[in-house]
Amino acid sequence: MKISVLTLFPEIYRALDESIIGKALQKGIFEVELFNIRDYSKDKHKKCDDYPFGGGAGMVMTPQPLHDCIQAADPNHNALRVYLSPKGEKLNQNRVTELAKLDHIVLVNGSYEGIDERILKLDIDKELSIGDYVLTSGDFASLVVINAVSRYIPGVLGSESSTEEESFADGKTLEYPHYTRPQEFMGVSVPEVLISGNHKKIFEWRKEQSKKITEERRGKE
Ligand code: SAM
Repeated sequence: MKISVLTLFPEIYRALDESIIGKALQKGIFEVELFNIRDYSKDKHKKCDDYPFGGGAGMVMTPQPLHDCIQAADPNHNALRVYLSPKGEKLNQNRVTELAKLDHIVLVNGSYEGIDERILKLDIDKELSIGDYVLTSGDFASLVVINAVSRYIPGVLGSESSTEEESFADGKTLEYPHYTRPQEFMGVSVPEVLISGNHKKIFEWRKEQSKKITEERRGKE
């Protein structure tokens, strides 16, 4: 899987060098390719934004650098081209696992007031939002998408971490609580069942806890 990222702020993606995702990138299990949109600007000052037609606050990203950059990242339109936007379809676990099956995703990141609408019509397949709030740039949303999607690429998570028992593994259920050593901390003990060694009872307790937490926090079905 290759994820091509089109951004005005490539430095933000240094965050990907850390943790298990950084290790997977180093091993070549998947690839993140960064494109600086500014490099594609034909303006003599490499400008990538301009005032909005019709007036109003803020600047809008101009179409030419974006269009040329998208062409460079995906010349034959084989990839799914995604624009990160608060107006997009909301990301959830099902969408994450669908995205993880693709060979190539292009993530187009807006800044300022967003991008010229014509790019959405000409070059973008899907608009994706990470939630109903507004970020300063799509890059923070792209980091979320890359992190969430890459966990589902075979080989990224070590064998010790599994996605099968996690929250949303079935699209809706939240995970049970975890405990580790010490057995008692600040006067609070680990639930007895977890130290019973009875795997059947532990399985049932975890299932029950999952159901309870999901109903409490997300409501009954
Ligand atoms: N003027 C836009 C609006 O009101 O819908 C907000 C623009 S925002 C300040 C700048 C950029 O951040 C957007 O172009 C988009 O790429 C990104 N962005 C902001 N919030 C986002 C969200 N919730 N999910 C995904 N991308 C987001």
